[in-house]
Amino acid sequence: MLLLSGKEVASHLYEQVTQQTKAFIAMGNPAPTLAVVLVGDDPASATYVANKAKACEQVGFRHIDYHLPSDSSLEQVLDLVTRLNADSTVNGILVQLPLPDHIDSFRVTQAIDPIKDVDGLHQNNLGALLVERPFLVSCTPLGILHLLDYYNLPTSGKNAVIIGRSTIVGKPMAALLAQKGRDATVTMCHSKTKDLASITKTADILVAAIGKPRAIDASMVKKEAVVIDVGINRIADSSKKSGFRLVGDVDFEQVSPLCSAITPVPGGVGLLTVATLMGNTLLAAKQQRRS
Ligand code: NDP
Repeated sequence: MLLLSGKEVASHLYEQVTQQTKAFIAMGNPAPTLAVVLVGDDPASATYVANKAKACEQVGFRHIDYHLPSDSSLEQVLDLVTRLNADSTVNGILVQLPLPDHIDSFRVTQAIDPIKDVDGLHQNNLGALLVERPFLVSCTPLGILHLLDYYNLPTSGKNAVIIGRSTIVGKPMAALLAQKGRDATVTMCHSKTKDLASITKTADILVAAIGKPRAIDASMVKKEAVVIDVGINRIADSSKKSGFRLVGDVDFEQVSPLCSAITPVPGGVGLLTVATLMGNTLLAAKQQRRS
């Protein structure tokens, strides 16, 4: 069984982005700038935002963090996005999700200028992916493609089963794997899928993006499958200072002996998501210099 190291692939991506950023700046351009907006005090979101800031520093970007109180109104968040859209020194805008319940996430993600939409959630960017003219693509599924490429894991002609149909993971993952050149035969499952195990057992490549700790057990996985675990779930663990530990959507202990390759949690897809965000920010900055 091959352990697919998000850390190793992310460090490869960081190296590439760092080199390209140096070249970009050497051509007289300002350092790419990412604005990250956090609304409220969700501790997991605060950690993700801190990781993004660290990553920006690592690759030579400027970052600006905005922290709005949890009782901010939709209008206040939209006002900030509008200001960032108009600020020519900002190349990428990321509003950390989930937003507090009273804020309509769709309104916020669609308010971001598509050329600065480094999370790839604007309908223009999602549509561009579907017509096979991708520009800014959602970081987690794009990071998974980088991982498959890095380990030379082929997708052509493979049965890929994706569990989860979110706009940020499941749907773009399906579009990426089905596109010409990737050529997987894709099945997308969700909470209303009947007899999930009978479908997941057909998967040569299984991507789990459900948000349910260790929901995928050995009875659901085909022998020799490649298993990509997107889930990041906190479960109570009194032996940890924090009182919790992270587990994926896949039961790693049960599934890893069965499969040919698997991503761990932590240390897998999560690290790639942040590294891919750096790639997207550089791409956005380059595009903005051209236009
Ligand atoms: P969402 O909650 O938006 O989507 C979850 C999807 O899983 C939905 O489509 C839902 O179906 C489906 N689902 C839920 N329960 C089941 C079930 N029992 N059987 C089959 N399908 C089910 O989550 P996200 O896509 O945003 O995130 C998924 C997981 O990935 C989370 O743990 C999240 O923390 C993690 N994540 C990790 C990232 C990383 O960088 N590693 C980045 C983004 C997310 P339905 O549509 O019918 O409700």
